[in-house]
Amino acid sequence: MIPYGKQEINKDDIDAVIKTLKADWITSGPKVDEFEKAIASYVKADHAIAVNSGTSALDIAVGALELPKGSEIITTPFTFVATSNCILYNECKPVFADINPKTYNIDTDKIRKKITKKTKAIIYVDYAGQPCDIDEIGEIAQENDLKLIEDAAHAIGAEYKGKRVGSLADMTEFSFHPVKHITTGEGGMITTNDEELAKKLRMLRNHGMDKSLRERLGPTASYAYDIKMLGRNYRITDIQCALGHSQLKKLDNILKKRAQIAVAYGKAFKGMKGVTVPFINDGIKHAWHLYTILLDEGMDRDKFFNGMRTRGIGVNVHYIPIYQFSYYKKLKINKNDFPNTNDVFSRIVTLPLYPGMGEREIDKVVMATKECLG
Ligand SMILES: *Cc1c(COP(=O)(O)O)cnc(C)c1O
Repeated sequence: MIPYGKQEINKDDIDAVIKTLKADWITSGPKVDEFEKAIASYVKADHAIAVNSGTSALDIAVGALELPKGSEIITTPFTFVATSNCILYNECKPVFADINPKTYNIDTDKIRKKITKKTKAIIYVDYAGQPCDIDEIGEIAQENDLKLIEDAAHAIGAEYKGKRVGSLADMTEFSFHPVKHITTGEGGMITTNDEELAKKLRMLRNHGMDKSLRERLGPTASYAYDIKMLGRNYRITDIQCALGHSQLKKLDNILKKRAQIAVAYGKAFKGMKGVTVPFINDGIKHAWHLYTILLDEGMDRDKFFNGMRTRGIGVNVHYIPIYQFSYYKKLKINKNDFPNTNDVFSRIVTLPLYPGMGEREIDKVVMATKECLG
């Protein structure tokens, strides 16, 4: 089976991990600092806080806003469930706004319609690696005094009007799950230019403690610490960060390869009946986490999907709209509020895309697609 996504680990990565296993610190040590500094510098943000998953990153990003219980946070329903679970963890209410039918990103006009007195923040997702209309979202935030969290799990290395994703929102979250651009096995990061938020994020990942372990060691240090917020243990290990830092050195190459595969798909599908290829906005650099095709109306997506899988192509569907999950039914969300999400969900298919893909695999995917459309 050709998978839809796959990590690429080579000898440098393995050596970096082994070296760290032999070092004094295997968690909360210098490799964590190094990886944070490297990511901050790569995305051009002042602060980066590493945690044990992208989901944990989102959780403490919402937590750092210290919103009153029941506050509303607007987000997209066309995303991985972590984007809205993090709102529930913090006893706030996710309010979904429909997507733009071309980019599949949250629709800014729909955001405006969902704002109430209780709205405090927006979490927007750069779907597949295409940055949202950040100028427009920023304007909405300013007019309504809202905080912005960018879920950039798909979008490390992406750019909006020449600026790298990572310092465009109040806080930006990245994921280092193996299907993402670079991996730490499990892992995540939050970047921000706000020093106060950075301080809170560091506390929240470590039980709410005001001092790190290393600050409590040494000849003149005190044993004492205070718990200032209700944090958790979301710390990441040095072993993981050594891997992440080694992977980061290859990110530009990985982005290039992913873009090349997207171009190859685009060429192969141009003019092919029955499919629409991804729309790309002007003024952005796409990070190509996912390559999706949209089948024409009236075609049987599930039949296409099964046909591809039986041909050894590990297609996927991103995403099942969040309001369709049983757990979310209790929020009493009206499905009819999301015509674009419903339509795109019923017709979309994710094709394999990972840097290790060669021409042979691409051809196989294209051939199978032709057959299954036929
Ligand atoms: C991967 C992903 C996350 C974070 O997932 P983790 O597996 O916890 O790192 C969050 N949001 C989106 C949109 C994602 O794709």
